[in-house]
Amino acid sequence: MEQNQREPTPLNPNQKGKLCFKCGFPNRSTDLRCVYCEVSLEEPSGIFSMFQQTYYVLRWRLELKQKREGIKKNRALFYPVKFLGYFILGIVLSGTGLYLMIEAVNSNSFSRAIISVLLLLYGLFTLKGLIFRQK
Ligand SMILES: [Zn+2]
Repeated sequence: MEQNQREPTPLNPNQKGKLCFKCGFPNRSTDLRCVYCEVSLEEPSGIFSMFQQTYYVLRWRLELKQKREGIKKNRALFYPVKFLGYFILGIVLSGTGLYLMIEAVNSNSFSRAIISVLLLLYGLFTLKGLIFRQK
């Protein structure tokens, strides 16, 4: 690995960084441009800009929080529908496979037996994936 390769260092609270006065993104003090919106980080000074910076940081944090909560909500809404869909698919596949299996045994049909086994396995894998899914 190359030693000289410049990696973006993670932000930590102890490091004094520059806050973007357009979007409020906390950049590193070595950055000349905002990582987030690419505006120049030449800071305006004075008490007004201090308030402005505080405002932008608060707004940035609020937006981030809202985004996260929005994603969570969407997932929670979407998950049961998806779960139900896969569950029905698994049941239908397994059921069809089982039915064809019985048919194949009754009629001694090899091709039907192959198809039934495939359907059964597919259905079982769908159900298994549903139950043992990692969140
Ligand atoms: Zn910015």
